[in-house]
Amino acid sequence: MPTPCALSWWLLLGLMLCQQVLKGQKQTGSLEFVYHSQQELESTLKRMNEEHSSISYLHSIGESVQGVPLWVIVIGLTPKAHQVGVPDFKYIGNIHGNEPVGRELLLHLVHHLLTHYGQDPNITALINSTRIHVLPAMNPDGFKVAVPGDCDGEQGRTNFHGVDLNRNFPDFFTKNPVPREPETQAVMTWFRSENFVLSAVLHGGAMVVVYPYSNDEGGLTGEIQYADEDVFQHLAKVYSFAHPEIQKGNLCGDTFPKGIVKGAKWYPIVGLKGRVLDSAGKPVPEAVLQILNRKDSLSHRTNALGEFYKLLLPGNYTFQVEAKGFLPLSETVQVTDSTDSYSANVHGFVVIKKRKLYPRPWSSFAAPWGAPLHL
Ligand SMILES: [Zn+2]
Repeated sequence: MPTPCALSWWLLLGLMLCQQVLKGQKQTGSLEFVYHSQQELESTLKRMNEEHSSISYLHSIGESVQGVPLWVIVIGLTPKAHQVGVPDFKYIGNIHGNEPVGRELLLHLVHHLLTHYGQDPNITALINSTRIHVLPAMNPDGFKVAVPGDCDGEQGRTNFHGVDLNRNFPDFFTKNPVPREPETQAVMTWFRSENFVLSAVLHGGAMVVVYPYSNDEGGLTGEIQYADEDVFQHLAKVYSFAHPEIQKGNLCGDTFPKGIVKGAKWYPIVGLKGRVLDSAGKPVPEAVLQILNRKDSLSHRTNALGEFYKLLLPGNYTFQVEAKGFLPLSETVQVTDSTDSYSANVHGFVVIKKRKLYPRPWSSFAAPWGAPLHL
């Protein structure tokens, strides 16, 4: 059993899957269910992109230590560019080179999405309303030296420099002194180039959905509750309950009792999205949104387009919107289950500019009778 995988603070949701998944080799359409070499992965992505060029975009976000491109395929109606109101989602696989199941699953996910667009109404609606970014292999150098069938070893876990990429990102609670590797730097630059609303990283070695954070101020107690933990837990359960094996919570020799909660009501899509605009309809970037009537909720900042995306469970929330040069705004919004619309609830906030106090010209201080007033 490999060392348990921890997630860095900014990775919203981690998904760990058993390596046993690939025991049976099956055909899925034109994509074989086998491990793909880096060349095969690259040619498969290129082929899928060419065959579905109107809804996909393939680009490299950088290179591994050994110069292998880190391919990201984007799926959406406007794959090359973000559109207002369309949330961006990302998946990362194979961060540990010897955990290749996620790499293959993501390749199949891409294939499934692209080949079912226009055929399956759910997938069509998903692609019409979301922009999905997939990096199937973050550690191609590690994958190259991993030993097939070795389920207990460490070979290929790290990158070419021997660095565990999953522990190479900045840490929310403590300073991570490890220098950033090329793969990590590429991924961090990629993160900054988009406004990702939700993310998942696929590991191998255990069957459990891990949600933030993987450490805390007290070390690794897992006892401290953090902002939006209910939302993280809910999202993790959406994953685990969709999987007939993960939800059992006791596979691969591990026990994850928190993976099982019966009788709860699940909403596949939760949240509120929209823009902060001024009274002339212009977007207000860098506006800070906070929820006043919710304990421990992460604040959000609007992007250059004035957009915000806030993951929430249904309920009534009082937002406070603050932006430099504008009067603070407080507004209560009802967030409902919007499953059928394939969208989060949409709401716009309009903020009013603070009145500027210009020094008045001397003449305006004139007394009513016209004589100058000496102040
Ligand atoms: Zn891992």
